Order: sequence, then C-alpha cells, then structure tokens
Amino acid sequence: MASDCLFCRIIAHEIPAKLVLENEHVVAFRDINPQAPVHVVIVPRDHVASLNDAKDPAMLGHLSLAAAQIAKSEGIADSGYRTVVNTNADAGQTVFHIHLHLIGGRDMRWPPG
Ligand code: AMP
Ligand code: ZN
Repeated sequence: MASDCLFCRIIAHEIPAKLVLENEHVVAFRDINPQAPVHVVIVPRDHVASLNDAKDPAMLGHLSLAAAQIAKSEGIADSGYRTVVNTNADAGQTVFHIHLHLIGGRDMRWPPG
C-alpha cells in the first residue's frame, strides 16, 4: 500500500467511500463526482500508478470482469455502458493508482471529449 495514495487509503478503509464491490483482486466504489447516473471506479488492490506501469494481464482482466459484473448488478448491462482508463495528462488522469471508470445509465457520445 502507498500511504500517500488516495485509492490505497480507500482500499484500506482509511477514507470512506460508497463501496460497490470488494473481492480478492479489486475494490469498486462510486465516483465522488459522477459523470453519469452510474459512475463506479474500479481499482486493483495492488498499487500500480497507471496503465503505463501495468505488468499483470490478470489484474487488467479482473478490472474488466468486475466492470461487467457491476454493470449487471446496476441494471445497465443491456442498455450499455462505457469503461475508461485515463492515462497521464492528455487523458486527464488525476489519481495515480490505475482505475477503470464504469460509466452508464445515459446516452453517450462518440468520440469522447
Ligand atoms: P481520473 O481523472 O481518471 O484519474 O479519475 C479519478 C476519479 O476519482 C475522478 O473521477 C474523481 O471524481 C474520483 N475521485 C476522486 N476522489 C475520490 C474519492 N474520495 N472517492 C471517490 N471518487 C473519487
Ligand atoms: Zn494506490
């Protein structure tokens, strides 16, 4: 755990969050500034700063499978949803613990802004 990392501290339950899913591999919680009716942030338990630093294919798989599981439990699997990993400045990454955004519950545009 990185003690100066916001998401590590949420994983450790040191900072409160609206948890949606916790399993052996990932923790998911509602985004504090939701961009859609459903906006869940999914993080691996292990601290990895960004996709550029990811080494474990299984970890990336666990993030995606958790997104699909939560989309089903949130009732948006059939209507549709988007999963996003922002990496570094041009993508607007603000928290440097890799995370997958699960966004849905409304119509979305393409290309994204
Ligand atoms: P990104 O911009 O891709 O790095 O995403 C970071 C996300 O974390 C943003 O959507 C923030 O709204 C969200 N966020 C920041 N602090 C918290 C928090 N304490 N609890 C839940 N979500 C947060
Ligand atoms: Zn971290």
